[in-house]
Amino acid sequence: MQLLKDRICRDGKVKEGNVLKVDSFLNHQIDVSLLCEIGKEFKRIFGDCGVTKILTVEASGIGIACVAAQFFNVPVLFAKKNQTKNISGDVYTRSVESFTHGRSYDIIVSREFLKPEDRVLIIDDFLARGSALLGLVGLVQDAGAQLVGAGIVIEKGFQEGGALVRARGVRVESLAVIESMDPRTGIVFR
Ligand code: 5GP
Repeated sequence: MQLLKDRICRDGKVKEGNVLKVDSFLNHQIDVSLLCEIGKEFKRIFGDCGVTKILTVEASGIGIACVAAQFFNVPVLFAKKNQTKNISGDVYTRSVESFTHGRSYDIIVSREFLKPEDRVLIIDDFLARGSALLGLVGLVQDAGAQLVGAGIVIEKGFQEGGALVRARGVRVESLAVIESMDPRTGIVFR
């Protein structure tokens, strides 16, 4: 998606440790009109998949998913992050290793909101090593729901997540795939 790539080049900041900061338009301050175009693009890609629910994870995924959901006219379900085990049986739980924070946490959704009859589109901001996305895929599997695919805003193609998740047979569509990035020389897209 050219509009997104242009914006990443203009306002993204490449940090040491393979981290791209997009705080001025996606992860802190939010450019809602850009999110609107992103939502339309996800609708163009997944519009004929019979999506009944969009699943994301707090916090950065929520805004993106909510704007996209307006084009699909379906509810958004966001997995909550939890550092302690929830032992009650009314939730699905998966463990995720955070790429940016270097620690593990559980993601949780209520069984009430994810049902076998759901056709789920996962949406998230970044795909890096794939732990967050695999956790979300796991929640969909635990519920016995149908996964139609994953819409990712920015995939860091030089990290292993994309290959890992696609190897599981999941349709992953990323709007911008970064081939390489460097604090000195900048960003190259695939
Ligand atoms: P993964 O689980 O694929 O390793 O990482 C995905 C999650 O980590 C995303 O939901 C995002 O919040 C965060 N993340 C991974 N890489 C980056 C990055 O380069 N920049 C930012 N801002 N977040 C990232």
